[in-house]
Amino acid sequence: LGPTVTIGEILVEIMAETPGVGFLEPQPLTGPYPSGAPAIFIDQVARLGGAAGIVGCVGHDDFGRLNIERLQRDGADVSAISIHPELPTGSAFVRYRPDGARDFVFNLTRSAAGQISLDDAAKALLDRAGHLHVMGSALSIPGAWDLIRYGLDRIAECGGSVSLDPNARKELLSSHEAAGQFAAIVAEADLLLPSGDELFAAAGCEGEEAALAALFDQGVSEIALKRGDKGATVFRHSGERTDGAAFQVEEIDPTGAGDCFGAAYLTCRRMGFPPDRALLYANAAGARNVTRKGPMEGAGSFDELDAFIANTSRA
Ligand code: ATP
Repeated sequence: LGPTVTIGEILVEIMAETPGVGFLEPQPLTGPYPSGAPAIFIDQVARLGGAAGIVGCVGHDDFGRLNIERLQRDGADVSAISIHPELPTGSAFVRYRPDGARDFVFNLTRSAAGQISLDDAAKALLDRAGHLHVMGSALSIPGAWDLIRYGLDRIAECGGSVSLDPNARKELLSSHEAAGQFAAIVAEADLLLPSGDELFAAAGCEGEEAALAALFDQGVSEIALKRGDKGATVFRHSGERTDGAAFQVEEIDPTGAGDCFGAAYLTCRRMGFPPDRALLYANAAGARNVTRKGPMEGAGSFDELDAFIANTSRA
């Protein structure tokens, strides 16, 4: 089957070094790091040896080159990353509050990241995809829906599969149009990778049991529910439930954990691993990633994840 393909924002992240210090005064910053939820996701798929490609757009600048070189080095297909001649690569400045919460200053929709479109290179990649992974966050980009719709149609034609990380911004889903697009993706998804309340947003109702039932009724076959430092649980349409305990790590930088988790779970399932083994690698990928500064710096290969699993205790 063809590669796992995703669509959306490619950014650099620059972070405040000292937790609790806002951006209102000069302070030490670190970065740039390659970033953007779809980019982190696809990098982790590629690091595991899965065929992987991304549709995105960067500027004609060092930040764009940094991303393309990293994704290429890690084995992702970068043929559908276009280079915008004028706009700069998108960016995210992040700072951590003392309680671990994050605040972002994004330059997304008015940067190259916001300029993705259904061009020839994007069509060529989507035409050969065997799996489409949709990031809810990408729906913030005006051109994303055309690409997602095209990708969903190609996947339906070739008998491939679809996953969704429903990490769309809450404010976005209050728009009638975006909510309709989001619901259409849920209806075509085989695997969902929600975190916390995103389960309810995807289901359109509250309560874990009711939400799971509503999603299985729509044809979803597996739901991997991420619970941060509490690990994760996989629910299957067949009624099976698999709990995966979290690995005990010191959290240095939480950004990207969910993307690495999702990439590892999906890649393992596409490689034919059973859910419990896929969940073990997914929990390991998420936990390993939070131990490194930079959103995709902790994305690991199978050898690195095996070493991490062997040397890390679980809650
Ligand atoms: P993000 O938006 O930051 O990428 P998310 O909210 O989508 O993340 P989380 O639930 O925070 O997803 O993390 C995904 C997975 O990563 C968890 O289910 C868990 O396996 C692992 N993980 C995340 N944080 C930790 C932690 N502090 N300790 C151990 N494992 C963690």
